[in-house]
Amino acid sequence: MKYNWGQQPLSFEPLIQQQAWQDQAFRDLLQYLKAHSPFYQKLFRSASIDITTVKLTDLPTTSKEDLQLNNWDFLCVGKDKIAEYTATSGTLGTPVTIALTANDLERLAYNEYCSFVTMGLSETDTIQLLLTLDKQFMAGMAYYQGARKLGAAVVRTGPGSPEMQLEVIRNLGVNTLVAVPSFLLKLIETAKAKGIDLASFPVKKVLAIGESMYDSEWQKSILHERICQDWPLALHSTYAATEMQTAFTACNAEAGLHTNPELIIVEFLDEAGNAVAEDEIGEVTITTLGVEGMPLLRYRTGDLCKHTTKSCACGRHAIRIGPVLGRKKQLIKYKGTSVYPSAIFELLNKETWIENYLIGIHQNSELQDEIRIQVVSKSVHPSEALAALKATFRAQIRVVPEIEFINAAALMALQFPNGSRKQLRIIDYRP
Ligand SMILES: [Zn+2]
Repeated sequence: MKYNWGQQPLSFEPLIQQQAWQDQAFRDLLQYLKAHSPFYQKLFRSASIDITTVKLTDLPTTSKEDLQLNNWDFLCVGKDKIAEYTATSGTLGTPVTIALTANDLERLAYNEYCSFVTMGLSETDTIQLLLTLDKQFMAGMAYYQGARKLGAAVVRTGPGSPEMQLEVIRNLGVNTLVAVPSFLLKLIETAKAKGIDLASFPVKKVLAIGESMYDSEWQKSILHERICQDWPLALHSTYAATEMQTAFTACNAEAGLHTNPELIIVEFLDEAGNAVAEDEIGEVTITTLGVEGMPLLRYRTGDLCKHTTKSCACGRHAIRIGPVLGRKKQLIKYKGTSVYPSAIFELLNKETWIENYLIGIHQNSELQDEIRIQVVSKSVHPSEALAALKATFRAQIRVVPEIEFINAAALMALQFPNGSRKQLRIIDYRP
């Protein structure tokens, strides 16, 4: 079942009506999977599932490992129907290929169209895309298609080259960026060095990808504050994963990322697979709606976040999520407590003397987790700053990491392994 995407999004309807629509879409999905998906056919058979009566919450979940091991068993269409092959980044193991049909591409465009509408954009806006559009990256292409659907003007500058980015923004009167927030710090630094007054620049909004703009208590993250100090921008957080072919984006109320009920059913599960209560931390678990190529049923994304079912000030009633606190796999167990990577990012982003960093999670010979951070420093003698940073770690998260200095080029090489399209901030070296 496909929602009429030309109409007002389902998220403006009362939650109960959204759920009634989703219940029917879920039944249709089960029929579709039973008819076309080798993976789910096998699952339904082995678990003796009657798809006419089973409840969503009684179905087994699907993991990333399932997708990695049985990638092509998830494909529901013949090769003649595939319009594009995208892939996950592979930062957490073997990359997964996600094949999309022409309808899936249309759905993806609608999805990012909704993101842009949610952040208040229209056809009068000019959107600069500071991210990769090739390398099988789904998001770059999705933003491009979404902006086209919106009718806005698009500028594809790609990542990097701060001077060029600033020049294009000024020349074309760009008022919206799609960018990784830490790159905005680079733009700010470049503007300062060139004596450019950013306040006079036309950019007003940024769709901030890959890094959370809020801490776990919904306060602006340090990175958010550092950017806005020098460049007063509305930073709209967004969260997406290639496998779910859907993004969740913050509106002007800045109170959570909006889910699109016509595109996805979202659950939040604990370790045992039970639903967590509102405002408790759970794993984002999704069921795609309207996907033809590789639909997923109760897929555990590995991302941890809180959620709310309360209505938003913007008039939408759909479930909101966020902020995303980190990947379940990247949780660090330290002397009996769990440390979220987001907490470490927050501490490091506060240190203005740090130009760039990479967090490594290791396991020592006693099977204890250890954190080693490689840092590029801006200052010549940062030993005092280093001691202060260690004390902050000890006081705030009770973990004292090893910190080593590294030169900028060597760190960049580690952050972009094999021409990676994303700059890595954390690498998990544990077995
Ligand atoms: Zn809202």
